[in-house]
Formats: sequence, structure tokens, C-alpha cells
Amino acid sequence: MVVEAVKNIKEIKEFNDHRLVLRFEDKKLNLRGFVAIHNDNLGPATGGTRMFPYQNEKEALVDVLRLSRAMTYKCALAGVRHGGGKAVIIGNPGKIKNKELLKNYARVINELNGRFHTGEDVGISEDDVQVMLTESKFFIGRKGIAGDPSPYAALSTFYAIKTGIAEVFGSENLENRSVAIKGIGKVGSELMRLTLNEGAKICIADIESARVDATQKKFPKIKTVDTKDIHRQLVDVLSPCALGNDISQENIKEIHARIICGGANNQLTNNEIGDELFQRRILYVPDYVANAGGLINVVDELEKDGYNRDRVLKRIENIKKTLSTIYLLAKQRNQPPFRIADKLAEEIFNGNSHRQS
Ligand code: NAD
Repeated sequence: MVVEAVKNIKEIKEFNDHRLVLRFEDKKLNLRGFVAIHNDNLGPATGGTRMFPYQNEKEALVDVLRLSRAMTYKCALAGVRHGGGKAVIIGNPGKIKNKELLKNYARVINELNGRFHTGEDVGISEDDVQVMLTESKFFIGRKGIAGDPSPYAALSTFYAIKTGIAEVFGSENLENRSVAIKGIGKVGSELMRLTLNEGAKICIADIESARVDATQKKFPKIKTVDTKDIHRQLVDVLSPCALGNDISQENIKEIHARIICGGANNQLTNNEIGDELFQRRILYVPDYVANAGGLINVVDELEKDGYNRDRVLKRIENIKKTLSTIYLLAKQRNQPPFRIADKLAEEIFNGNSHRQS
């Protein structure tokens, strides 16, 4: 196994003074990827491990740099004492993932000696985490303790949608409000259940047609549309819950929703898209604030007094207050909420602001 610092990392546009960027490779096992620690001012870095069939190493490196940076901002505004990190493993989980590969990857994480704690993400399941825990104590999301973070990510996104609805329509009541959900995987399907329970009208799309069919069979009232049409729906809320990069120059003019709020990470292809949404009077709820429930849940395992579900639920509910503050400052300063969120987060992790956790 080779574990080495990435050479010429400063030449990559997405590099943002990351504290540590490592490349690892074990040719025999077909194990290859990167670990990035963006910032650890608030505490040890944390962030999931993603396994994805990236086209090449550059694509994986860019992803780990972007995702680890977003984790720093997410931790800061979620009120947890952790910094941002992320890891990516290059490869199709369905083809190359096996116990030996996972255990060897866990040994790479051991080399960081607690500077980075990680857990599940796209391509890495709760069961995989249990396998890696046999080799390393630096994995979080233990079965029977915090477990799968996705229901908590869905819960925080649900609260975030309610704050968005209240901000735009004056009441957080979801009855007869309409929500279009792109991606009905772990987060999207739970979010669908929560919003349906409150009387919202739901429209869904997913590239997995079998998943769409099964969902509609179970919930005959929901509408299903093609993935290429989901952003065009005449709905109150567009909720990206797939793999990110959902809002781009190509589709921004076709969005009719008044609010964009979903569980996916990195929903905007770039910040200028966020500025344009603001000009178009579409409320974009910053993704890393909305979906922080999953993080809040798993890092609670690292608290000195052990995992406490009540504290987790309280912190998740607190996201509503954080978003209200962001909306208020956004109005006062006439700036997009996502820019305000970034500024608040930077003040917290750079130590210019003190926050109760
Ligand atoms: P998942 O893999 O369970 O679900 C993703 C779903 O999106 C799948 O059903 C997939 O078929 C669908 N999809 C993929 N590309 C699509 C496309 N182009 N159009 C429509 N559907 C598409 O993943 P998840 O755990 O639900 O995570 C979803 C998003 O939420 C990811 O961006 C993830 O980073 C983010 N997130 C997840 C958690 C968590 O705890 N799981 C926490 C915070 C954020």
C-alpha cells in the first residue's frame, strides 16, 4: 500500500488551503483514492467516504477537495466541534468492493491517527462501516448507536423546507404545498415520506425506474416524471436529493419553483448560479445547512458522554433557527442566503465568532 501526499496540489483550482491531501493505492486490491482534510480549527476533521466510478484521478481529486471544504462549512453551522474532511475511493462499488478492500482502506484511515473520522456516503453502506470498524476505531455510524445518517439528513432537510416555505409564503404549513424530489434514494425517499405526512403534493424522478415504479405503487397519489423534466415542474419547492450539480446555466431558466431545498451536496454547479437564483427571486436554501442532520447524528458518537439521541434531535431542530438568522441577514444585506451562510461559517471556523453547541 502506498500512502503519499499529493504532488503539486496547489495547482488544482479547487485547492483551498487544505491542511492535508493524501493519495493511497494498493494495486493488488484495486484500491485507489484520496483523503482530504480541509480545516480542523474546530476539532478533528470528519466527513464520509464516497466510492464512485470516477473517470480519472483528477475528477476524484476535485471531488474530494470540494466535498471536504463543504464539510468544514457544514460542521461550523451545524454547531459541532469538528472540521471538514472527506475521502473518495475510485471504482464501481458493485464491481470492486469487498471486505479485504474495505479493511485495507480502514488501515489508511488509521495512519491519520484520529485527525479524521469517517463513515458512509454514496457507495459506502452502513454494513461497510461495520466491516471497517473491525480494523479501525475512526469510523462513525455504528449499527445500534448512530447508525445510518440518512434519515437524519432527511429530517433536517424537511425542517429546512419548512423554513423556506415560511419565508416565501408566510407559514410553514406544508398542506397542499407542492414538492418535486429529484432522487428517491435513502434521503429522498425519507424526505418524501415526511412531506407526504404533512399533506404536501409530491412529484418524483429517479434514474432507477424500478425504484420509481415501486414508490408509486406504494404511494399512488404521487406524480412521477422523467429525470430530465423534474426541474421544470410547476411546484413550490424543487428538492435535489440525487448526486449534486443539479442547478446549472443550462437549466436555471427552466426552474419555476420559488424554493430550492434538498438533501444533495453541492447542488449548484458554481456560486454565480446561486447569485442568479437570488436575482430571479428563487430562495436557494444552502445545501450544507439543510442536510446537516446526517453529520449531526454520526458525530454525536464522538461526544465525551457518548451518543445521545435527544441532543441530536435538538441540534437538528436548531437548524431552523440558523436558517432564520441567515434569511434575516440576507434580507438586511440584500445578499443571497448561501453567501451569508458561507460568511457565518467562516467567522465560526476562523474563530471570529463563538457559538454554543
Ligand atoms: P442514494 O444513493 O441512496 O440515493 C441517490 C438517488 O438518486 C438514487 O436513487 C439514484 O438512482 C438517484 N439518482 C442519481 N442520479 C440521478 C439523476 N441524474 N436524476 C435522478 N435521480 C438520480 O444516496 P443518498 O444517501 O440518498 O444521498 C443523496 C444525496 O444526499 C447525495 O448528494 C449525498 O451526498 C447527500 N447526503 C446524504 C446524506 C446521507 O446521510 N445519506 C447526508 C447528507 C447529504
